Amino acid sequence: MATGAQNVRVIVMGAGMAGILSGIRLLQAGIDCVIYEKADRVGGTWRENTYPGLTCDVPSHAYTYSFEPNPDWTHMLPPGPEIQEYFERTTRKYGVDRIIRFNQEITSCEYRGGRWHIRTRAGLEDSADIVIAATGVLHHINVPRIPGMESFGGASFHTARWDHSVPLEGRRVGVIGNGSTGVQIVSALAGRAAKLCHFQRTAQWIMPTENPEFSEEYRAALRNDPERLRDLQINPTPDYTANVDRFNNALVDAKSSGIDEIEMYCRQNLEHSVMDPALREKLRPTYRANCKRLVYSPDYYRAIQHPQSVLVTEGIERIEAAGVRTRDGTLHELDVLAFATGFNAGMFMRPMGITGRDGLTLEQFWHDRPKAYMAIAMPGFPNFFMLNGPNGPVGNFSLIDIAEQQLHYIWTFIEKLRSGECSEIEPTTDAMQAFEVERIAAARNTVFGAGCNSWYLDAEGVPATWPWTRTRFCEEMRAPRLEAYSLRT
Ligand code: NAP
Repeated sequence: MATGAQNVRVIVMGAGMAGILSGIRLLQAGIDCVIYEKADRVGGTWRENTYPGLTCDVPSHAYTYSFEPNPDWTHMLPPGPEIQEYFERTTRKYGVDRIIRFNQEITSCEYRGGRWHIRTRAGLEDSADIVIAATGVLHHINVPRIPGMESFGGASFHTARWDHSVPLEGRRVGVIGNGSTGVQIVSALAGRAAKLCHFQRTAQWIMPTENPEFSEEYRAALRNDPERLRDLQINPTPDYTANVDRFNNALVDAKSSGIDEIEMYCRQNLEHSVMDPALREKLRPTYRANCKRLVYSPDYYRAIQHPQSVLVTEGIERIEAAGVRTRDGTLHELDVLAFATGFNAGMFMRPMGITGRDGLTLEQFWHDRPKAYMAIAMPGFPNFFMLNGPNGPVGNFSLIDIAEQQLHYIWTFIEKLRSGECSEIEPTTDAMQAFEVERIAAARNTVFGAGCNSWYLDAEGVPATWPWTRTRFCEEMRAPRLEAYSLRT
């Protein structure tokens, strides 16, 4: 690699939240960079998800880049289209749109002669000294194989491929799945659909939350008060930061009192909100709260009690032309069927073919499970860094904050490469192995491993997320432990 500040070139994969962030920081530092994006617009998950009721359950003012507060959020919980608009606006404001190559899906990325060489599906080739993979976590949709699904006579689609040409008003709509997505859709469609069938396989813990609208006066006041706006980013509600830390630090121990407390709030929500004792029991989870990602909802219990809503807990036997047949023999007749069945979370950059030093492929390195030292880097893949990659924290907090902390960590490496102090940086195999042993042992004690099914688990049932406290993550991200890395000139 050539040395000297002006010669370092960075390829960023993906123009979602983390890719845009990388572009902003790299441009501000005067670093030669390009972002490759497979789609024709920025936004990642917020571009792909457009389903009715799409909202982020993290308070809006906390769901912003730290350097780009937004006085114009209309609600406590930001609606999906506003988030998409925020990312598009921020991309333009910082000139990142000029460095994005749209409709260029990277299909291969190979380390040869001290540089990363990429090729896109359209045949474009490029190379760089550093790669930042910002390809997202939940982008490969999971559509289960249910017998007879091809025979369905109505419209059907996965929630991340919502077909807005299909009318919903006055139709009979089925939603399979009750994760955060299914719950938001059912909340939005109750009363709009003539009949709304929510197919629930496992009950969810549901944390109550509020979603007040922000008045124009309030937003105008924020526009003129940058200090107040900055404070809101840290604490959009009183004690927000303290609660995020308290609850997320509790996740490392399935038996912790913090989880008892979460269960208490959710149980109270259920008892106070659902009147019919039979329905209440169907909605009562029987595993530890937060084992699956906690669902926050201001209105799901109201929606499922709407006279036109039905909660179906009987297992699905097959799909027929007229609807969904459950194991008790009942045919639930439907015009529209939405699969809120989640994502294959273990894909990360794949199916892209990634080949590191000496022909080591990502598939070989991840033969057992996706893994990365500190969720950032991998031995054998020099100068290749990930944002929101495997083993990073995911949960009920802002992933923008996580990506900012990770980019801060990576920045130490970018500076070292840029200054010519070294030309190759990667974690040592020893550091990676020790990290994995400690991570897997800790993961088994977390609440994510407490005996439920979720996208947090890898193929062997080991929780793949950051298994230590959020506080520890923040400390680790302050600066890399350089002894865990090999820096070559
Ligand atoms: P998910 O949490 O993975 O939920 C998938 C749902 O589909 C579960 O209820 C699952 O049931 C059900 N399911 C899967 N296969 C099934 C089958 N064959 N038959 C019946 N049911 C089946 O997916 P998601 O709701 O799309 O959410 C994924 C993640 O996206 C969330 O955890 C969150 O991180 C993110 N998200 C965030 C927000 C936000 O507001 N911030 C909003 C939406 C999504 P089981 O529980 O029984 O497996």
